Parts: sequence; structure tokens; C-alpha cells
Amino acid sequence: MGIKVAKFGGSSLASAEQFRKVKEILLLDADRRIVVPSAPGKRCSTDIKVTDLFYECNRLAAAGKDIAPAFDRIRERYHGIADELGLTADLDAHLEEVHKNIQLGAGADYAASRGEYLNGILLADYMGWDFVDPQTGIFFDEEGRLDSAKTQDVLGAILREHTHAVVPGFYGCDSHGNVKTFSRGGSDITGAIVARAANADLYENWTDVSGCLMADPRIVRNPEPIAHVTYRELRELSYMGASVLHEDAIFPVRIAGIPTNIRNTNDPTAPGTVIGYEAEERDSKYTITGIAGHKNFAIINVEKAMMNAELGFGRRLLQAIEEQGISFEHMPSGIDTMCVVVHEDALEGKKERLVQRIHELCQPDSVEIHSGLALIATVGRGMVRSKGTSARIFNALTRAGVNIRLIDQGSSELNIIVGVDNLDFEVATRAIYREFVTKEEPRW
Ligand code: ASP
Repeated sequence: MGIKVAKFGGSSLASAEQFRKVKEILLLDADRRIVVPSAPGKRCSTDIKVTDLFYECNRLAAAGKDIAPAFDRIRERYHGIADELGLTADLDAHLEEVHKNIQLGAGADYAASRGEYLNGILLADYMGWDFVDPQTGIFFDEEGRLDSAKTQDVLGAILREHTHAVVPGFYGCDSHGNVKTFSRGGSDITGAIVARAANADLYENWTDVSGCLMADPRIVRNPEPIAHVTYRELRELSYMGASVLHEDAIFPVRIAGIPTNIRNTNDPTAPGTVIGYEAEERDSKYTITGIAGHKNFAIINVEKAMMNAELGFGRRLLQAIEEQGISFEHMPSGIDTMCVVVHEDALEGKKERLVQRIHELCQPDSVEIHSGLALIATVGRGMVRSKGTSARIFNALTRAGVNIRLIDQGSSELNIIVGVDNLDFEVATRAIYREFVTKEEPRW
């Protein structure tokens, strides 16, 4: 028998109705033996996430105010689920304890973590599975970083003792034994850590969308979902702005070689997106896997005649940038020019000093900074095998009347980046999508 770790997001566990869907999904596959729940999320767009209600209670407690009225809303949410499902767990006793501790000043991390903790208790009761508190198995070091080695050992041993377990997401134990949470949305990270510790065959991340999309749906109408993507491609796409899983939720499963499957609780028959290594050998449906990008970059353009013959020019230029505490994104260069692309915000209040240092260190002929640049990455493992991908991108942009201000293609042939005016960002994204998806025949 294999092991699948299934993490369910807040909207998947926001109500009794959603709990029923989750149970059905879990029982459909005997390998789904470990579940990582989030706290109840929004039931509709105007609803408030339980985690936010907990943060509010903590704020009131810290200000010396009575949290009872705010806590009543939390009570209602959990009772709404437990009563409708006829659960027998002693919810009131747990709620009382949590209420008391927050009022007494247990702190923000403790308060926020109780969203997942209480939902985990309810889900364990509903499934008839064991409850495993991550405070006993997920550890942070003195600097507040995840202690991977200790977590792997202890959590791995705990999970081996349970055939079926519910491990709440979002928190663990700090070096003093207190509750510590991950950053917001951190249940995804817990899911990946648990999958690694359980040595799972698959990490399923159940949410309210049917996987990753090939482009931003706010720009491209109804973009196609991505069936298979490699961890490397996903990194390129998310770095360039695609909203997918948090880096920390990828790392534990990526290094353990465990694939991740993003699925939709509200459409469980949709296959979702599989992120894995094996996708590398798989033919993708299209030449490209996805398009991502964002606006507001600046180019620092440095020119100097005979630059190419000067040893250490690039190092001195990057030194000037580093001295200002600015990190750079790309560095396309010509014979006598060097461009460094940085985030516009990073230059705020530093421009003059930076230009002055570049002059002092590099003695260039000119230094110019142009802002208002958008970067668009076209990512695809299929590019290595197909000729003319960049030509197709450039033609599509030309036809759309978009001026390309910068081109950058890494030697991995996984990603072609073009820089265009902020104003052309949406038109350019749509033009590339049309060229490779709408127009292209799927290559099954
Ligand atoms: N409940 C936490 C949050 O709202 C963590 C999560 O849902 O992943 O951020």
C-alpha cells in the first residue's frame, strides 16, 4: 500500500458541506492516509477567514480588551461544522481552553495556529483518524528556521505509528517548546514537510482551482490548465510572478523526489496539475508550458568603448550595485554595453548614489536608467527540442505592434525572457499565448 498526503486549503474546509466533499475524496483512494487541513476559510467572497478572526482576538487581548464578542464568531464557525456533521469531539472544552489562553496573552502565533488545530480535531473525529499535533513533530531552530533534520526524524517516527492521521497545517514548535506558525498560507508548507517525513508517493494539494494555468486569467481569457510541469519550470514561472505554491512548499518534496498534484476539491474528477521530475521526459501538449511576468523593472544601461577588453568591468559594475544593497534580476550584455535589470522599487532613493558609484568604479562613457519595463517569461521544457521558438515569440510580438526592449535566454533553453514597455505587458502576453496555445495544434 502506498501513501498519499492530502493537504486541503481553507476554502475546501470552510463548512460542513465542504467537509463532506473532503471525506468523499479521502475515502476514494485507500492510499490517502494522511491529511493536512487548513483552518476554515471563506465560504463566500465577503466572509472572513477563521485565521483572521484569531489574529483579531489576539490584537484585542494584547490591547487588554475582552475577546469574548470576537471569539463568539469563531465559536459559531466551528459549531456550524460540528453540529451539522453530528461530531462527538468535545468541541466546547477545546474552545474554552483556546479562549482562555488567548485572553491571557498566549500570543499571535498560538492564536493563529488554533484555526488549524481545531479544524484538525474536527476532521480527525469526522474521519475516525488519529490526530497528530505538529507541535510534537515539526521543529524550528533558534533563528526561527525550520529544523529539517529533527523534523524529518521525529515526525517520520510519529507518522509510522499511525495508519491514518490528521496533521493540522501552518504551525510547529519553536526552540522553547512554544507554538510557532509559518508565514501566511503556510499549510502548504506543512503538507510538503509531512509528505517528505512520511516518505509519501504523492503530495496532493487540494484547493479551489483545477491546477496551475498556462497564463494569468486576469490577462488571458480562460487559459488552459497545465497538465504536467517540472519543478524547474515551476520555479521559473513562480519567480516571474505566476501565483503557484510558495517556494518553501516545493522544496521538501522536490528534494525528496515526491511529485505534487494540485487538485480541485469542488471538481475532484479534474486531473489538476502534476509537478514532478518525470514530466521532464513527458511530452508537453504544447511547445511551451506557461507564460508569466510582471511589470515595473528598470534597466541600468552602461556604455563604454572597448569595454570588452577591460578585465573586471562586470565585477566592478555589480559591486556598485551590491554596495547599494540592490539585487539584480538579469544581465544581458553587448560588446560595449552592459545592462542590469533590477526591480524599480529597489532603486528608490538610491539612484543618484548608484550612478555616482558606477562612474567612480567603472569610468563608463554613459550610464542611463530607464524604468517602466515589464518582463515576460515564456517557459517550456519542450523548447529544447523545437526550433524557432524565439522567432515565433518575436513574430507574434511584432504582429501585435509590441516593441521588444530586451531579450534574455538562458542556456538551459527552458525560458525565454523579453522586456517590453509596461503599457504593452498585457497585449504582449496575449500575443504569445495566442501563438503557442490558441493557434498551435496540440502535439499529443
Ligand atoms: N490558515 C493560515 C492562513 O490563513 C494558513 C493556511 O491557510 O495555509 O494563512
